Amino acid sequence: EDLYGLKRWGRGFFEVLENGDVALKNPLSPDSPPVSLPGIIRDLEKRGIHTPMILRVSSYLEDAIRQINESFRDAIKRTGYQGTYRGVFPIKVNQQAQVVDRIVEFGRKYDFGLEAGSKPELVIALAHKLPDDALIVCNGVKDAEFVGLAIQSRKLGFNTVIVLESTMEVDTVIETSRALGVEPMLGVRVKLTNQISGNWAASSGDRSTFGMNTAQLVEVIDKLRDAGLLHCLTLQHSHLGSQVPDVNDVRRAVGDACRYFCEMKAEGAPLTHLDLGGGLGFDYTGEQKATANSINYSVEEYCANIVETVAYAMNEAGVEHPTLVTESGRASVATSSMLIFNVLEATLFDAPDAPAVEPDDHHYVSDLTAVGDYLSGDRLRECLNDASFYRNEMRALFRRGHVGMRQMARTETIYRHLMARIKALAASDERGADIEDELHKLADIYHCNFSLFQSLPDVWAIDQLHPLMPLQMLDQPPTRRAVLSDITCDSDGKVDHFIVADGTSPSLPVHDLPEDRPYHMGVFFVGAYQETLGDLHNLFGDTNVVTIDLRDDAGFDLLHEQEGDTIAEVLSYVEYDPSDCVAAFRKLVDGAISKGIISVEERRPLMAAYRDSINGYTYYE
Ligand code: PLP
Repeated sequence: EDLYGLKRWGRGFFEVLENGDVALKNPLSPDSPPVSLPGIIRDLEKRGIHTPMILRVSSYLEDAIRQINESFRDAIKRTGYQGTYRGVFPIKVNQQAQVVDRIVEFGRKYDFGLEAGSKPELVIALAHKLPDDALIVCNGVKDAEFVGLAIQSRKLGFNTVIVLESTMEVDTVIETSRALGVEPMLGVRVKLTNQISGNWAASSGDRSTFGMNTAQLVEVIDKLRDAGLLHCLTLQHSHLGSQVPDVNDVRRAVGDACRYFCEMKAEGAPLTHLDLGGGLGFDYTGEQKATANSINYSVEEYCANIVETVAYAMNEAGVEHPTLVTESGRASVATSSMLIFNVLEATLFDAPDAPAVEPDDHHYVSDLTAVGDYLSGDRLRECLNDASFYRNEMRALFRRGHVGMRQMARTETIYRHLMARIKALAASDERGADIEDELHKLADIYHCNFSLFQSLPDVWAIDQLHPLMPLQMLDQPPTRRAVLSDITCDSDGKVDHFIVADGTSPSLPVHDLPEDRPYHMGVFFVGAYQETLGDLHNLFGDTNVVTIDLRDDAGFDLLHEQEGDTIAEVLSYVEYDPSDCVAAFRKLVDGAISKGIISVEERRPLMAAYRDSINGYTYYE
């Protein structure tokens, strides 16, 4: 049974082995055997690399870059489109060197370039040897320094396009290019007025913060013409917002973009490149529906729709087919990373046995115990109601001081035992479905070694759904339902919305925690945005990051290891000098020795404990 919906969302990248392990399949080598994920984790542990960690699979990244480029190539060939495709990877979606370097490497044969949305990202882009025909597209607000670097990079052969975001930026570009005596490659960002649906709807439409309206575009063209630079305007850019759920929104937006393209050409702008920005969505749930966490189209369909729409529009206007550019970030990197963490302990909301009622106990305790006598499939809800009533009455008596702690403890254990019986009966009786909502509220809490704020920020901020499941024991039926809590001291640090077999659920099927080995969870498709948006809540830093490649013999190669932040590193991010902290602690220790509070011999272990902590991992070790 596909309890976690893995067959629906897994893209054939994962399968469950007979021993119950989740295993990774190599999409670039479909005949090679799957590689056990718990096996990879055990191997990495032996090398001293511990969870929580981000595991990057290089072949998944290569497959995504191949898919986008080849889908455009295929669509171009099939429709007889006269232009080509020159995609760029928006660095902001995952700026990690290991990711960007590999994208450049895998994209080389497709003349794949980079998109920079800021000065630091341009600095990253210019540190790469890109193919001669690849683009660097510069978006975002640009000062004279940004513009100057972009223009000068032309001397080294980079095709660095400055996308004009505002009329003010045009003046900066004109002045800087005059001062440098180098002509820029220019683009212009058009604000499309059709609004799309989804989480990022605000990036499109009249009120979006980026791009220029029609009047401003006319002003830009006039300014550039006056400055003798109109011939440099070769690219038109627009961006709909990320994760566009409905492919027909893409078609409509592309149609709009084409209208501007043809009009600006008629105005004398020698446009050759049509850049349609990001937005190619990712099907996190595998539902194939236009919802917040899914999309109603495939990559192939997205590419085909763009190529077809542009071809029709250009043919109708008698305009040469432009080079197509997209800035697909999410679809390029989402698959390539997964977050893996161990479960530390469980808070269970049931008890295996119930204590006997004591002679002096309040009658509510025996009333509560008696609920167990009439528990049956057709009285599930009644038993739930009665049990809650008696327990709540006992709580009220406890608060007023009428019953003591031991009687209250007995009450709670009897209640939790009743809940265990109700859960078990509900699981085996079809009438259990009637109390499904109540059962979710009785889910256990599994405490896990990760920070939601550092590693899954969109789950916290916008209720993003990622597939999440146990990585082992899947040959055995799960015995419990749980919500996951992270190790920050924040009640928001929890996951209580999961993708399951038939949709989503407020609790996740899990196993009783094994005593002799760790129980690991995997969160899939976290390569886009999650690493870059994470924050230092409670000073939990970056996790360990490991890049691997899958071999053909059910093994893997470790390509790169990046150790997670140490405590000293996160302290320095918040302006503490770790050596000052050590010195300050030493002073306190020596002061305590002087006052006779601790002995001289206690100094060494105290200092060692402090030093070990400051040099250690921020997570539970
Ligand atoms: N291009 C621009 C200008 C963006 O702002 C973004 C992100 O929203 C992207 C590209 C990447 O979008 P996506 O990850 O949806 O492909």
